[in-house]
Amino acid sequence: MSSPSSPKSLCSVCGTLCSFSHLPSNVFSIAKLIPAGSLELNLKSDSVPPSFSKIAEDGWPPMHAPTLESLDILLEEFTRPLSFLIRHHFIFTTYYLHSAHVLKLRVYIVPYDLPGCQGRLSYRARSREVLNAGQTYMLMLLPLVSQEPENWHGGQVTPSAFFLDSSMDRRTLPEIYGALPSPSPQSFTTDSDSINRLLDYRDDLGGFGLHSTLLFYQRRSVAMMLQKESGRSPDVPNPLYVPLTDMNGKICHYQPGTTEFLKELYMVTPTQGGVLCEELGTGKTIMILTLILSTIKQLSSPENSFIDSRPVLTPLALRHFPSGDFASIREKFSPRKRASQSQIRVPSFRDILLHLLSSNPDISIPNTTTESGLRKYQRQEHFLELLESLPYDLWRKSNFPFYLHQDDDPTGHRISSRGQGYSAPRLLYLTSATLIVAPANLISQWDREILKHCEVVPRVLIIRSGTRLPSAKDLATLYDIILMPYNRFSDEDKRTDVKKLHSWKLCVCPEFPDSRVPKCTCRPPDVSSLLQVRWKRLVIDEGHVSASLSTRLTPFSKLLSVQHRWIVTGTPTTNLLGLSFGNKSSGGESGVPSHADLDLNVGGDTDVEMDAEVGIVERMDVDFEVEQRVEESVPEPLATESSSSFLTADPDSPSSSPTPLDVETPRIWNRLDRLDVEKLTSMVAHFVGMKLLADQQIVKSHILDALFDNKGPRPGAIQMLTHLMESVMIRHRIDDVEEEVVLPRLDHEHIYLSLSPLAAMSYNAFQASIAINAIDSERQDEDYMFHPRNSDALQTTVKNMSQLLFWSVDDRLYNIDELKKTNLEVLQDVNKRNIPQADIELAKESYMHIYIAAESPLWRSIQSSEDIPYLVHGINPMIFKSWSRLPDNTWVKGGLTTGYVHPDRLIRLRQLIIRNPLISVTKVTYLGEMASAKDLEHRKAYQEMVRRKEGKERKDRKSERSKLPKHIPVKQQDTHNSTGLFNSSKTAASSDTIKEMQQELQASLARLEMEEGVLDPSAIPSPNATQPSALLHSSVIAGVRVGSSASTKLNYIINDVLKYSEQEKFLIFSDSELTLAHIAEALQLVEVKFLRFSTQVPTRIREQTVLTFETSDVYRVFLMELKHGARGLNLVSASRVIFCEPVWQIDVESQAIKRAHRIGQTRPVKVKTLAISNTAEEKMLERRQILKQGGSKIPKLLEETEIRHFIANPRFILVNPDAKDPGLDIPLLRLPPAPQLPASTTNNSIDVTCSSPLKRRVRVMDPQESSGGSPPKKRTVRFAE
Ligand SMILES: [Zn+2]
Ligand SMILES: [Zn+2]
Repeated sequence: MSSPSSPKSLCSVCGTLCSFSHLPSNVFSIAKLIPAGSLELNLKSDSVPPSFSKIAEDGWPPMHAPTLESLDILLEEFTRPLSFLIRHHFIFTTYYLHSAHVLKLRVYIVPYDLPGCQGRLSYRARSREVLNAGQTYMLMLLPLVSQEPENWHGGQVTPSAFFLDSSMDRRTLPEIYGALPSPSPQSFTTDSDSINRLLDYRDDLGGFGLHSTLLFYQRRSVAMMLQKESGRSPDVPNPLYVPLTDMNGKICHYQPGTTEFLKELYMVTPTQGGVLCEELGTGKTIMILTLILSTIKQLSSPENSFIDSRPVLTPLALRHFPSGDFASIREKFSPRKRASQSQIRVPSFRDILLHLLSSNPDISIPNTTTESGLRKYQRQEHFLELLESLPYDLWRKSNFPFYLHQDDDPTGHRISSRGQGYSAPRLLYLTSATLIVAPANLISQWDREILKHCEVVPRVLIIRSGTRLPSAKDLATLYDIILMPYNRFSDEDKRTDVKKLHSWKLCVCPEFPDSRVPKCTCRPPDVSSLLQVRWKRLVIDEGHVSASLSTRLTPFSKLLSVQHRWIVTGTPTTNLLGLSFGNKSSGGESGVPSHADLDLNVGGDTDVEMDAEVGIVERMDVDFEVEQRVEESVPEPLATESSSSFLTADPDSPSSSPTPLDVETPRIWNRLDRLDVEKLTSMVAHFVGMKLLADQQIVKSHILDALFDNKGPRPGAIQMLTHLMESVMIRHRIDDVEEEVVLPRLDHEHIYLSLSPLAAMSYNAFQASIAINAIDSERQDEDYMFHPRNSDALQTTVKNMSQLLFWSVDDRLYNIDELKKTNLEVLQDVNKRNIPQADIELAKESYMHIYIAAESPLWRSIQSSEDIPYLVHGINPMIFKSWSRLPDNTWVKGGLTTGYVHPDRLIRLRQLIIRNPLISVTKVTYLGEMASAKDLEHRKAYQEMVRRKEGKERKDRKSERSKLPKHIPVKQQDTHNSTGLFNSSKTAASSDTIKEMQQELQASLARLEMEEGVLDPSAIPSPNATQPSALLHSSVIAGVRVGSSASTKLNYIINDVLKYSEQEKFLIFSDSELTLAHIAEALQLVEVKFLRFSTQVPTRIREQTVLTFETSDVYRVFLMELKHGARGLNLVSASRVIFCEPVWQIDVESQAIKRAHRIGQTRPVKVKTLAISNTAEEKMLERRQILKQGGSKIPKLLEETEIRHFIANPRFILVNPDAKDPGLDIPLLRLPPAPQLPASTTNNSIDVTCSSPLKRRVRVMDPQESSGGSPPKKRTVRFAE
């Protein structure tokens, strides 16, 4: 044998006799490898430097596996990976002895596509074990490979550049999504077509047939879609690989999941469809309509095949035309029987015209703004009219375009003989129509939008539940748009036996008289007509709610023959609906996945496989139960105190962008991320039809493995995901859209209120404590609140003051009696301590206010419960005495007993009466006493618990505590001293509330899916279906009215809610959970449904809360802590925003407002900020305005001189008896209409839908009516209502 490499020569890479040994040595020539960089190895002192006999092409001796294994490397754990990688030809290395113990290695990566290896290095050729180990070792070594040129040449510097950049990309999927670039379609200079016209903003798109004027971003998106459909987008590098640069500055390609390296990357043809995922409210419908109009006459083209040619046929041409294609197809159908000569003759001009009109229509859209375009348009119209008036128009319509689809034989060669089954061709009608599948509730909306936007209305067919599909021929030829709801569409999966469509029979029906066009009366096979059409375009509208690509939709849509597939969605992954909420505080953030993540990631592999079959939707349902159960046991880490408003005055909020230091810890992708990525890949693979992802194994090894490594996404993984998303998604960044869109009006009003007399007493006592602290500490020693050492205490003080301005009661905050004592002492010491005259006056004034509060029995008794008391009128004195916690404080007003009652008591009392309308006063009184006793018991137990807890804490922090300055009103934020509010503040997180919310969510989703005119609306459970009993008129509290509460802010909010919540939804922000709890309780009292976005519930529930609020009409108010306001939540269903206290930081405020005032908002947005006059709140708004106008940077609240001065110099509030703040006056019981006529039953007048915006017109299309006798004329006739 004269082989250049004798069997004895060793392999040039591994240095052993391996299976590559016989290959010519130049196969592994260094020039063909990837010079990745260098590694440094330290040898143990007694290690013998390797001897060498050979020099590699780079001038250094090769480091073969046996040599390496003989070395004594200091870090032994490197020996095995390195030698493994060399032995298995993943890398080739050369070395240089830098000093006695320092070895420099040059690492060359052997690309998997190295020529001359007979493909044995390819990913598919290597064994799984080798690949797995190789992958582990590569991931271990590559991030250490230095790219410093000096190291490469044998020098020794600390590397700062590495081959594989392992710096962590901590972005979440929503963040990646939000950062995708806006579409930038290319205009083509060669020919003037729709794309060019769309991108020429001076062109008003005359001739497109649009009523509406498109915004520029909308035109760009349509142009991008057209560009994708045109197939003119240049091929792109396989998006599953990311480019890396080698030592020579050349690009190689790296697959983050498999660590595969390629030198040459094969290009992939971009999909001719994609995901239109513009933000909610950006006009996705009009974009799709423009896409349809600008291609309205374009026929679908036959599916490409490498095996046979697939000409566009018509019945006439197939039967009679003599040319090659037609003849050879005819021959295939009847190989033995040559068509009789009489049939074959040169077609007449009329025949050719008939064929061309059908198979090759004029698809141009004349630009009607130009003279010549207008003339052309008129010519086209005239020609159409002419055709329709001629007798042979029927021939033209019967001569429909189609092609014969022969399934490619998997063995690669065609079965030439005739046979049954799949080898026979199948007739597919070509069409210019677009099939749109949408949730049932959006069908009418599509219909309306078509009417609204289209100047020349397209021929639309709406197929609803229960209506039959027209024949495939009619579907393909009579319409421009076919609209179907999801369930009607997926009903078609009962008739999917496509085998029946494959046939060797040609139509032999007789021809029209005087014509050669067959008048076909063949019976169509019993297979869904949707499967007999080669669709030009399928649009799946995902509607409001993501994850609707249901199990049934997936398999059927895969069966359709479609040229361009589009998904229209505002939320391509479930988490994007409310956008990135939860991402800052989710378990993965800390670097330690939560239990839930860990548990659920186990067995993820089987999940993946199942999902491929099952789809994602069902999981959403499962999530409701399973996930809740799992997550409930995992407390969500509470977000660190953020600092955005008056309450917490540090502007360096943690929600601002992470500092470089944060980037060190990876963000581990959890199972919710996994659901999203799986949904995304499944959508792209099965709906958009990206062939690359059709193989579930590839999705797992190339994408999921790379992203869901338990150490965080592998280097390059997020880059790859970004490429993938970019390649199919069409979406503008919100900023780019908002540059063009004019949002509805935004009004921001500051509402100044005064304090109620009760609240004013508390406020003044609080001010007094500040005053006494100042005087007592002589404003300088460490006891002084404004001493620099006390900045934390000062913050808390300010926070407490803000709480007080809404409502706060706490005897530990300022023990009034102790305060009184201290104040007196100060006054007595005045002379001894040489206190300035101004302070003496201040001390006197303080004393007066403390005295007023201390001597008020009502004020003192109110301190016993943290709830806000409400004035109640017309209550029976006995009932009042037993149900109020303040029994000794009634007075008579207008002959009616009036006094304060706490809302939790009122709610319980009402519940009691609703259950037993005719219960007697005695019984109610008795039950009230029972309740009070129990209440007292609870409170005692609770206070005992708090005391013990605090005692313990005090012990724990004894030394720390003793440092606190005297008299500073510091209280623990997390302890409430009343059972009532303590319970109600938990309401947001209680499982009942969550369950109720979830039930409503499901009901509201069901309503959204409700088939119009088919499903009886009463079949859907209505949340308030129970009618109050008429007996309530006779109940003992029938006349009781609830008046104002002691919090003027709360009164204002409740008034506003009662006034507007029937028409509009509210978003209420506060920095205080306690304030939100007070509002929640008040809303319960006035029976307005609300949702609360709380840190007390798991992320998933929070997401559902947003979804419920946005989809359900039941919930009218959304309560949210301010710190969540900046999280990208989309709450556009709300058009009223209330801030319970001024927000100091302008950006925090505007972020919060943006939840409602953003793309998708259709109403003017009203924002109100509540502030108490003559307090720091008023000062704050005033200063902020001045600073804002001055354009200077706004300092931290407590560093702002004037605010600081204001707080440091307490002033007291005088109650203005004429203050006209809005009060409350509502009945405690909502009574049904009075039963005047005993016989009349009013029950049947319940109108569930009367106030529901979900009400829609009922219109059932009858296809018989439309596709029967007279088919609609081209684009001008609409179906009658
Ligand atoms: Zn070898
Ligand atoms: Zn026929």
